[in-house]
Amino acid sequence: MNKHFDVIVAGMGIVGMAHAYAAARKGMRVLVVDTDHQASGASVRNFGFITVTGQEEGKPWQYARRSVDIWRSVARQASIQIDQTGACFVAKCKESSDLLQAYARSKSGEDCSILGKNELQDMCGGNFSEEIEKALYSPHELRVNPREAIPTMRQWLTHHLGVAFQTSTHVNRIGKGRVETTQGTLHAERIYLCMGDRLGEICPEIWQKRKLQICSLQMLKLSPPGIRLPFPVLSDLSLIRYPGFADMQEAKALSDVMERKFAVHLKHGIHLIIVQDQDGSLIIGDSHAYGDQALPFQSEQVDKLLLSTFRALLPGVEAEVCERWMGSYVCAKDGIAFSEEINEGVYAIEITTGAGMSLAFGFAEEVLNHSI
Ligand SMILES: Cc1cc2nc3c(=O)[nH]c(=O)nc-3n(C[C@H](O)[C@H](O)[C@H](O)COP(=O)(O)OP(=O)(O)OC[C@H]3O[C@@H](n4cnc5c(N)ncnc54)[C@H](O)[C@@H]3O)c2cc1C
Repeated sequence: MNKHFDVIVAGMGIVGMAHAYAAARKGMRVLVVDTDHQASGASVRNFGFITVTGQEEGKPWQYARRSVDIWRSVARQASIQIDQTGACFVAKCKESSDLLQAYARSKSGEDCSILGKNELQDMCGGNFSEEIEKALYSPHELRVNPREAIPTMRQWLTHHLGVAFQTSTHVNRIGKGRVETTQGTLHAERIYLCMGDRLGEICPEIWQKRKLQICSLQMLKLSPPGIRLPFPVLSDLSLIRYPGFADMQEAKALSDVMERKFAVHLKHGIHLIIVQDQDGSLIIGDSHAYGDQALPFQSEQVDKLLLSTFRALLPGVEAEVCERWMGSYVCAKDGIAFSEEINEGVYAIEITTGAGMSLAFGFAEEVLNHSI
């Protein structure tokens, strides 16, 4: 194999893929290297939920809007199935209902609409709890199955944009124009390190300087319960996690209620997102535990809390757990993403909000525009 490229990307998760895509679109000769034989990190363990509504106003929201456009285009060309479109945030109390209505009136709420209980029930086959007051429908979102989307994207980048992939190749060390791997040394003008929660192994100084942490999450897959949700659904616990909602003045009253009613859920960082695969299975999650490394052990208490939150929202729906897994991503106290030049032409890249599927394409486009 040729060992000299214009661009080498380390990591074939969504952040690496997005950088490879942006570089290839600029006509660069691109190589992606990864330790694994096939992607198995956060990018295939997530919901596949590409969100706009709820992202922080300003840059994050703009990256998300741009990412959705790129996802649509890539999905069409690469034949990646879009399982669901839009998203619905449901309110089970007056405080969340007030927050959703305020959001719909705000600039970020453009094109969103408020649904009454009956409208929501009509759209989703009458499965929701009678306690629901209102819901916010956002038309912007997409949902893909990440386990299919990421490998399909790899095939498409290879065959249609000429991106080379070298897997089972661990990056050990980086220097200007040089990537030292377990399979020998590779050379490129630009090097983008998109190694997710393992970036600290190559760039410990970045990890320490930025005080990065790892967030571990629990996820569940439920066997097809015979319902069809046209869009991903989020509970009102999600409203105090997503900054686009949580930063609003109306969120304070909701936080107070949630802290009183759901103290245990909040202790585990639990909120509820429900997405649906083509075969009808539901993916539900998640929880958030922060620390210096990914947690290997799954808590039964957290799984039970996730399931009870799900059942409280969709009370008549019978579904068995068929898979459980953990995932992890990098988080920072400040900012949503960074690209830091650590050596001439070598960039350490990270999306630090747990929204890599939603932001990576927009962010990578900007990184490439500034670095090439
Ligand atoms: C459970 C869960 C649910 C989530 N849900 C969503 C969601 O619905 N929507 C959303 O927008 N975001 C979501 N996220 C966040 C999103 O998944 C992440 O932000 C994103 O996947 C991070 O992508 P990445 O490419 O940085 O990391 P990864 O996907 O982890 O990829 C990093 C790659 O780098 C490789 N690598 C590491 N070290 C080396 C080395 N030394 N040499 C070579 N290769 C190396 C790894 O093998 C890996 O393939 C979720 C995350 C989790 C964990």
